Amino acid sequence: MQHKETIIPDILMMGEDDEPPSPANLLNIEKTTSQFAPPKAIYTSIPTLAGNRIRLARPHPRSTPKTRAFRKKYYPEVSDKEWNDWQWQMSSRIRRFDKINKMLKLSPEELDALSNPGFQLPLSITPYYASLLSVDDPLQALRRSVVPTSGELVKMPCESDDPLGEDHQSPIPGLVHRYPDRVLFLLLDFCSTYCRYCTRSRVVGHGSILPGRSRLERAIEYISRTPTIRDVLLSGGDPLTLSDDRLEWVISRLRAIPHVEIIRIGTKVPAVLPQRITPKLVKMLHRYHPLWMSLHFIHPDECTPETNRACNMLADAGIPLGSQTVLLKGINDSVETMTQLMHQLMMMRVRPYYLYQCDPITGSGHFRTSVEKGLEIIRGMRGFTTGYSVPTYVVDAPRGGGKIPMMPDYVEQHTSEALVLRNYENKIFRYPDSAI
Ligand code: SF4
Repeated sequence: MQHKETIIPDILMMGEDDEPPSPANLLNIEKTTSQFAPPKAIYTSIPTLAGNRIRLARPHPRSTPKTRAFRKKYYPEVSDKEWNDWQWQMSSRIRRFDKINKMLKLSPEELDALSNPGFQLPLSITPYYASLLSVDDPLQALRRSVVPTSGELVKMPCESDDPLGEDHQSPIPGLVHRYPDRVLFLLLDFCSTYCRYCTRSRVVGHGSILPGRSRLERAIEYISRTPTIRDVLLSGGDPLTLSDDRLEWVISRLRAIPHVEIIRIGTKVPAVLPQRITPKLVKMLHRYHPLWMSLHFIHPDECTPETNRACNMLADAGIPLGSQTVLLKGINDSVETMTQLMHQLMMMRVRPYYLYQCDPITGSGHFRTSVEKGLEIIRGMRGFTTGYSVPTYVVDAPRGGGKIPMMPDYVEQHTSEALVLRNYENKIFRYPDSAI
């Protein structure tokens, strides 16, 4: 059997000439002295005999029993220091058939895909994320999201490699200018772990968008001479797979542009590589406020002690955290799973933000649900749980139409005198709406 060997351009090995300069002295921003150390304890409250409750600190669990068992089995020689080092996690990514075949009992559909050199997106999973996968169950949510199956090889007529038309709205390679006041700045096409449903599978992991200095300079120069741009979203690939110095070089250059009001970072790192959120990184990010983050999560099983710690460190640095979730068939397409995920995110101080209808990417048919399914989920959440926990469900319109919010219809009738509304409990209410 011939197995595809995935070769991923290693950003850590780029030439010296491509290294952006040190951020030192580029921007005169007051350095903070605070340290954003990982939380050492969480609190629990217990009742006393007097009927009061007292708060006790208890040690924060460092990882789940599942992760510990996985480490013991596959990485017995690896020290805690190495395992918790994001660069060790990066250099130890699972990228080859022989390695994943030792860790998981592969299904025929997975074997078929892994032996076929035709799939678009490389295979790459951090050891940490691999520790969360089920060994026996190919239908487990997290496993389906990162292990290829033969479904990826099926192309449907409605699918395309670039359904959002990003390539046509790109004035500079890697810069998408779709909305007047904001741009999407793709720093690189590399991720530590590749999601099989990735909207940018046409570029991600192919080594075509590199964080080279000249391309980044051209994009920054475009932003600098376009005064309508007040918001820059850094994405990729995953921007947090860059070194602190490279990332700071980009952020500091953007922060020096007077009309750039906010900088946002889109990342899946807290879910797949939480070790990357180090005190040094958050201390650096804290210097460039207002800076926001959109964190990509798909399932409550991603909300582990490691991820909780990473999100808390970012939140403690004053970074507003929002979530992005793709609606995926057989992974999170139920009211129960979605509600549980959103509740877990709230506990990690991440505000549920967008729930995306899965884009019609080539080979994504096995992941897509109907839009009715998404509406059913929102209907099952709105009113039944905290309003903050309900994300905005959107369809990213094909060919660059932008995000269009989708809402269940609560209006039964609208006359010149009143609105007839149906609430979450299916009860009918009449609201007087006549012109005064
Ligand atoms: S993290 Fe984002 S860019 Fe990377 S593979 Fe997943 S969806 Fe694509």
